[in-house]
Amino acid sequence: MSSDVTRVSVRVTGTVQGVGFRPFVYALAARLGLSGFVGNDSDGVFAEVEGSPAAVAEFLVAVRRDAPPLARVDQVVSEKMQPYGTAGFLIAPSAPGAERTALISADSAMCADCLAELRDPADRRYAYPFINCTNCGPRFTIVTDVPYDRPNTTMAPFAMCGPCAAEYHDPANRRFHAQPVCCPACGPRLGLRGPDGSPVGAGDPLAAAAALLRDGQVLAVKGLGGYHLAVDAASEDAATALRARKHREDKPFAVMAAGLAAAQQLCEVDEAAAELLTSPRRPIVLLPRRPGTVAAAVAPGNRALGVMLPYTPLHHLLLEAVGRPIVLTSGNLSDEPIAYHDEDAFARLAEIADAFLTHDRAIHIRTDDSVVRVWGGVAGSELAEHGREMLIRRSRGCVPEPVRVPARFPRPVLACGAELKNTFCLAKGDRAFVSHHIGDLENAATLRSFTEGIEHFGRLFGIEPEVVAFDLHPEYLSTKYALDMDLDSCGVQHHHAHIASCLADNGHDGPVIGVAFDGTGYGTDGTLWGGEFLVADLAGFERAGHLRPVPMPGGAAAIRQPWRMAAAYLRAAFPGGPPAGLDVVKRNARNWAAIISLAERGVNAPVSSSAGRLFDAVAALLSVRDTINYEGQAAVELEQLADPGEAGSYWAAVTGQGPFCIEGSDLVRAVAGELAEGTPAPLIAARFHNGIAALIEDGCVLARERHGLDTVALSGGVFQNVLVTERAAVRLAARGFRVLLHSRVPCNDGGISFGQAVVAGARDRNDGVGPGLRRGGSGGCPPG
Ligand SMILES: [Zn+2]
Ligand SMILES: [Zn+2]
Repeated sequence: MSSDVTRVSVRVTGTVQGVGFRPFVYALAARLGLSGFVGNDSDGVFAEVEGSPAAVAEFLVAVRRDAPPLARVDQVVSEKMQPYGTAGFLIAPSAPGAERTALISADSAMCADCLAELRDPADRRYAYPFINCTNCGPRFTIVTDVPYDRPNTTMAPFAMCGPCAAEYHDPANRRFHAQPVCCPACGPRLGLRGPDGSPVGAGDPLAAAAALLRDGQVLAVKGLGGYHLAVDAASEDAATALRARKHREDKPFAVMAAGLAAAQQLCEVDEAAAELLTSPRRPIVLLPRRPGTVAAAVAPGNRALGVMLPYTPLHHLLLEAVGRPIVLTSGNLSDEPIAYHDEDAFARLAEIADAFLTHDRAIHIRTDDSVVRVWGGVAGSELAEHGREMLIRRSRGCVPEPVRVPARFPRPVLACGAELKNTFCLAKGDRAFVSHHIGDLENAATLRSFTEGIEHFGRLFGIEPEVVAFDLHPEYLSTKYALDMDLDSCGVQHHHAHIASCLADNGHDGPVIGVAFDGTGYGTDGTLWGGEFLVADLAGFERAGHLRPVPMPGGAAAIRQPWRMAAAYLRAAFPGGPPAGLDVVKRNARNWAAIISLAERGVNAPVSSSAGRLFDAVAALLSVRDTINYEGQAAVELEQLADPGEAGSYWAAVTGQGPFCIEGSDLVRAVAGELAEGTPAPLIAARFHNGIAALIEDGCVLARERHGLDTVALSGGVFQNVLVTERAAVRLAARGFRVLLHSRVPCNDGGISFGQAVVAGARDRNDGVGPGLRRGGSGGCPPG
């Protein structure tokens, strides 16, 4: 009977464009014997299907359950319609739409099918460096506009050849509607250029590039999100030359290995790390390094190595041709943003690279590699599985995947982020689009990628912000940018943003005890904070306690020279003068008195409760280093010095009736005392780390007594330190706290924009009534 036919219109939202969704729907409808059509518009995928009620019902389940690998289905909404009695199933051409909420997927590493074709001499794409399909390849980095169709990508100038067009139009083909589809006959081409950017020689550019690398030269390679600089990872001379030319003194270089087995020769790779290394995101994974496998200059003084596996066909071919791991570091000078336009790269990298391995597919948006750490989690607790992966930088392969939040944003928000490791965030509905890593907003080029990035995201995701959120630091360029906008504004204290970010990362509204430990952030009292215990919800916070502020002699100079913090902390710990014979005093004898005097008189010595500066002080005391060459270096090396088997701990006093104050100088006194007794530095470093975990525990216990809260959120750059995070989480769990850690956004300043956005959203939901909690006061303890 014909009454046994139903028809529904279906709308699928989420990341459903550029991931093979229409062919998937087509195949599904064919399998179930349904007629109708499917299409793409700016909101996602729409379809109408007609057939037996059972088949239609199965369709509505399978459309979510069996979605293609790169798809993320947020919602499937269906509505019953009058049957048409049509036969056959069609794929409708894309139509431009008014509202743009369709999601563009992140760039994805080459899939196994494409890799097999790449290696198959009989395949027409054999050894073709731009092979891709519906399940893999460039996406975010080549998209210029929505909807996601070839004319709106940087593949637009390449007209498909007959065979490629046939695959593109064949619903049964793996390349059906794969927008970047191409082949050697019609697609981008590789070229080798000299240091001045002019083409060199005939012959195979890839073989020539590999020969250059084997010969110890520096090669610039155009990747997915920008240019990398490559050298033979085993060559001390090449790595040293690259450091000198790049003006990068110590900051570790990442290494690309041909495959998992090659990575295992460089580093200890456990199961979780292997999974991350081979995931479609292909991040740089920081792993314990095996000694003597790469040149010392690759990661000087570092027990870890950042490793990644090839994620483009070009990487696969290059690694196979070189035959051993290569350094693959960002194509830039010092702290500039990575180059991604050819002419800009030729100009800026001319002094660094001996040659350029490049091609004619443009990169539309600069995207750095993502970076993750792996750690054990906390056995026997809720965090057992949770902690395996720690995001350090969320960028290529992750962005622009939105972070979903439980409470909707009443109005679209732009959050401008922090100054260092900047990201911005555009949020609307229940989605927060946290940008790729922009970098340190200190130079014009980075600021330009910040402003251009905001425009691009706004266009791609159809978000016109009505509220702008920003850091309270008046000198941040991101803050100045925000204040220049004619929008409702929402200033968010730096550490509150960290805690709000962690809350929303966990789908939690608060209130919680938030422990925000980092370098520095601007406090509501105009001093620099960074060792904070906040009682916070999404809308507001109260400063419950903090490390006792200590002068930073010379201001910013004290950040670059940790020995100055050692001087300031020793002065606080030993009012009568430090014990005799401390190496840090001897090494800096010439300037010691002057620095103590700055701290004493409070001249050019802003006080700060920063936990990062306490790590710096101890690193200098233990002779890890007196000056740093990149942000966080002293703390990174101090963590590596610590003996992970040591359970002993130092102890810091907690005092104060209002916001409590923790005496960080107690830890410094213990460190100096044990140093004088000749205790080995790895034990002291471990006891210091355990002491930080213990003071976090003590602060949280006191905050629980005072505020009746038993959930703790840990955020801020200090929690990139696995030893601190793990020890603190274990202690807190043992005391009956529920512990919230980050998983979808970084705990460092890369997560600040997300935190600012959710604070702005929460205050907006409060309908202008103001923060749910009183804003933080100035704190009750005088500087030590
Ligand atoms: Zn593929
Ligand atoms: Zn072709």
